[in-house]
Amino acid sequence: MMPLVEADNLVRIYEVRRGLFGRPSPIRAVDGISLAVMPGETLGIVGESGSGKSTLGRMLLGIDPAQTGAVNFEGRPLPQYGTAEWRALRAKMQLIYQDPLAALDRRLTIATQIGEPLEIHRIIPKEHRPARVAELMAAVGLRPDQAGRFPHELSGGQRQRAVIARALASRPKLLVCDEPVSALDVSIQAQVVNMLRDLQEQKGIAMVFISHDLKVVRNIADRVAVMYLGRIVEEASSDVIFHSPQHPYTRALVSSVPVPGKLLEGRVILQGEPPNPADRPSGCAFHPRCALARDICRTSVPPLRRIGSGRTAACHVVAGEGASVETLRRRA
Ligand code: ATP
Ligand code: SF4
Ligand code: MG
Repeated sequence: MMPLVEADNLVRIYEVRRGLFGRPSPIRAVDGISLAVMPGETLGIVGESGSGKSTLGRMLLGIDPAQTGAVNFEGRPLPQYGTAEWRALRAKMQLIYQDPLAALDRRLTIATQIGEPLEIHRIIPKEHRPARVAELMAAVGLRPDQAGRFPHELSGGQRQRAVIARALASRPKLLVCDEPVSALDVSIQAQVVNMLRDLQEQKGIAMVFISHDLKVVRNIADRVAVMYLGRIVEEASSDVIFHSPQHPYTRALVSSVPVPGKLLEGRVILQGEPPNPADRPSGCAFHPRCALARDICRTSVPPLRRIGSGRTAACHVVAGEGASVETLRRRA
């Protein structure tokens, strides 16, 4: 089967000024990321603030251009942002982010906004649109009597449901969800995540689910990629990541989340400062915080290596000396 979306060695460097009068210096927000998402699959992306998750999400949709590397969607290179080709493709790939209020127009009712994509992309005949809007609202758990409400007349959770309904209107094949429940009450988060998971299963939509919250990702992702300062440091099925993480950073992240039925033995505490993209440590960027670090970690960047079936990690100590994934890919 062909991946729905495939990223090859993506790089995004921002020029950022340090201080008010400082000279701009480069920040490698996304630093050589390759990944693939199969149709109907959910890939979770986790990592601390500033690790490049949102930048990567925007790049997968072509909103943020890659400086190096490429993204293919359904086997073809993404058209340039803003072009007619890109807008046409946009119906198939939707972005849902943290703040639903910012995503909605406060002057329009939610029914109008949920129906907008139907109109823009001329998806169904006009007379069928109200029924389709009602169907979409039901799918995300909004009541029919809420159709005429304005965004500020809904709760945060209901607003995010409306945003999701609108994203579904154009029958997307890919949803990129960037912290979609982080702004919601914890009690509402699980409801919205379960709803997303059900929809994804019923409709076979592929999803890239970005979150710094591992508990949320565990509930929804088939596979998880762990990011640290712009790079993927470990990738595996969700089960493997949560039950036998290998990379020291993943182990620290995972051990901060209680797993039901599992004792917290061998807990690893994440030490030191959170990563600063403007000041990337040499070698393995995680080395100042890593209990396993040795000399080579300070001088040499560990490549992502295959450490099992469908499983990769970038670490001199736990990922051994085999050929890097990059080399294997080039050979294939
Ligand atoms: P968070 O969990 O806080 O949302 P993130 O993992 O999504 O973080 P990004 O938003 O992708 O991280 O940012 C990665 C790095 O790139 C950060 O250092 C950020 O400051 C920088 N960055 C992101 N967008 C821009 C921009 N438009 N201009 C300059 N720098 C940017
Ligand atoms: Fe730790 Fe070295 Fe592995 Fe980096 S490469 S995670 S510093 S052991
Ligand atoms: Mg972000």
